[in-house]
Amino acid sequence: MDCLFCKIIEREIPADIVYEDDDVLAFNDINPQAPTHMLIVPKQHIATLNDIEEGDLALVGRLQFTAAKLAEEKGFAEEGYRVVMNCNDQGGQTVFHIHMHLMGGRRFTWPAG
Ligand code: 5GP
Ligand code: ZN
Repeated sequence: MDCLFCKIIEREIPADIVYEDDDVLAFNDINPQAPTHMLIVPKQHIATLNDIEEGDLALVGRLQFTAAKLAEEKGFAEEGYRVVMNCNDQGGQTVFHIHMHLMGGRRFTWPAG
């Protein structure tokens, strides 16, 4: 399959991997938008948030749980951080394998930036 994140999961292309378990991989974003900017992805290929099925709910919960654990590890869990999942064109999705952005280490504004 021609999927960038599947290739990272399969170690076909390199990434700065920060966490791995049986279901989930996390690595640093190549174009960070914050002092810490990681991507947390399921090892199972799911193209967009619209493709999540009932049987994937535990896996999706594991993405959020991993984000919280990594925020704790990085030391910004208490001061706060942002998680984002973009869906399709208007949502700003550019890689079609679902991923949670975990960003921390600076103050974020809402709704943009
Ligand atoms: P999206 O726009 O789909 O929500 O997020 C895709 C993210 O993947 C972007 O933040 C982008 O910087 C990151 N990205 C794209 N190509 C690569 C890559 O080859 N390696 C890594 N580590 N991140 C990538
Ligand atoms: Zn994939």
